[in-house]
Amino acid sequence: MSDQKKSINILGATGSIGCSAVDVILANPDHFDVHAVSANENAQKLAETAIALKARSAVIVRDDKRAELEALLSSTDIEVFSGVDGLNAVSKRPVDVTLAAIVGMAGLESIMNAIRSSKAVAIANKEPLVSAGALVMTEARAHNTTILPVDSEHNAIFQVFDFERKASINKIIITASGGPFRTWSLEEMGAATVEQALAHPNWSMGDKISIDSATMVNKALEVIEAHYLFDLPPEQIEVLIHPQSIVHSMVEYCDGSVLSQMGASDMRTPIANVLAWPERLETPGQRLNLAATPDLSFDAPDLERFPALAMAYDCIKRGGYACAAFNAANEVAVDAFLNNKIGFLGILDCISYALEFAEGAELPTVKDVQNYDQDIRSAVLDYINNEQKTKAKLV
Ligand code: NDP
Repeated sequence: MSDQKKSINILGATGSIGCSAVDVILANPDHFDVHAVSANENAQKLAETAIALKARSAVIVRDDKRAELEALLSSTDIEVFSGVDGLNAVSKRPVDVTLAAIVGMAGLESIMNAIRSSKAVAIANKEPLVSAGALVMTEARAHNTTILPVDSEHNAIFQVFDFERKASINKIIITASGGPFRTWSLEEMGAATVEQALAHPNWSMGDKISIDSATMVNKALEVIEAHYLFDLPPEQIEVLIHPQSIVHSMVEYCDGSVLSQMGASDMRTPIANVLAWPERLETPGQRLNLAATPDLSFDAPDLERFPALAMAYDCIKRGGYACAAFNAANEVAVDAFLNNKIGFLGILDCISYALEFAEGAELPTVKDVQNYDQDIRSAVLDYINNEQKTKAKLV
């Protein structure tokens, strides 16, 4: 990498992606100047991260945690911010790269701020791309801001996608591990516990995306994410089950060439790719030893046991409202499942319920997306509470 340090904000610095990014940066301290780090509530970890990275500012979104963060950072000159206002303030500051690693729709506003003020925004936080993909990409084009995909599949596609000759691309092929329930029957999944659903075979990730992987809603979100990131119609987006998680995704060209990016199941590789882009960086991450890997296999997904994928294709055809409803319903349902309020298959039932009344093509503004997201959340919460009372489908 060049000698000049890149200025960087890490939003969601205490999570799984945030911690992997911290590892990459600590292994390359001469290349980065960390401006701000943020968390929702984990003041202890945020303070440790801010100190380790020599960050200039630390933001804790939960106002009631501000005093704790201030006490932990009292012997430093790290500036403390709190609340959504604090997150908005730092995400509006100009930096070379903002890493968007907050989980869920809570990250939308800071992504939009960063697009207006950063040279590049590296997006792991897929939910805002699903619910507001058209707005995010339009804003990025308007500000000439580069969007760098962090999700391993989209990062893989990004690395082998010829943007200059897009017409020569037949399709992209997103790989999916199949998650912990890849071989389970619907009946077995109906009785799945939270612990079983969290136990991903290949990746260590935050709770929400781990549950999304078990339902394969994660792959559904990724199909919608890819539609917006690469501006491709659903017919040019394919999903293949690849349980070994070594080929992270592929691009098929018109001459029959299929280009892929491979690597170990370690998010530090795509994170290093986006932080160094367009250059390359050493990472402390695992290396791929192809001679020691099991045989690679690729299969079509089973849409009967994992209907989320078919729903995603339908959502893209229906437009922005359906995509936003899909995401909002899933966020509420995953939270309910994690808190033992609904069963595993209840998650898909909540999404189907929300999609029944999602109508309309594109949501015109970020505020419209946020309002619609809230409406869907309320409706799905009501649905969960009513179904629970009658001990119906969800449990
Ligand atoms: P985690 O749950 O591990 O971390 C989430 C981060 O966001 C934490 O820093 C958390 O702070 C912060 N946060 C949570 N809620 C809020 C909120 N309301 N406002 C502001 N900050 C908040 O998630 P992951 O790191 O697993 O995932 C982050 C995003 O990246 C997700 O969108 C996920 O889908 C995506 N992704 C993750 C991958 C992975 O390997 N983990 C792979 C590909 C994509 P605190 O610690 O204080 O709660």
